[in-house]
Amino acid sequence: MHTFPLLIMTPKKKVFEGAITLLNVMTLDGQLGILAKHQPLLSIVKTGPLHIIENNKVTYYATSGGVLTVKKDQTILLLDAIERADVIDINRAKDALKRAEDRLKSRSEKIDEMRAKAAIDRALNRIAVYEKFNQD
Ligand code: ATP
Repeated sequence: MHTFPLLIMTPKKKVFEGAITLLNVMTLDGQLGILAKHQPLLSIVKTGPLHIIENNKVTYYATSGGVLTVKKDQTILLLDAIERADVIDINRAKDALKRAEDRLKSRSEKIDEMRAKAAIDRALNRIAVYEKFNQD
């Protein structure tokens, strides 16, 4: 299989840099599978699961969203947050879910409702990715 270079960054650090054969990610345009020689692209990444294949090995992640650019020489994911499935702290995600659900119940402003819903999305995604990873 052909490989292509991928860089994954958050505002805090470089998460991954290497040659991969597939990137699978949820975007506003739907679920995208990026292979080598994909046409140039700019898209918004949604909170959701993400996986890459490197040397025939699949690595699963949970991301909280960001931006994807596919260029001829490099594919870049600039993400708010991303955790590899095996380092997700499941209890932290469950606590975050509970807190956000409580905030949603006692919300006062519209903006709080949106923030609480986004926090619920992030927590549910982490829980789903963690559970899928631990089944495989
Ligand atoms: P919390 O309320 O638990 O902080 P959050 O959704 O507000 O959850 P983020 O702001 O998305 O957290 O992430 C802050 C940092 O913590 C990021 O570096 C992210 O990768 C990491 N992180 C958040 N939740 C988890 C988790 N359950 N397991 C591992 N890392 C996590």
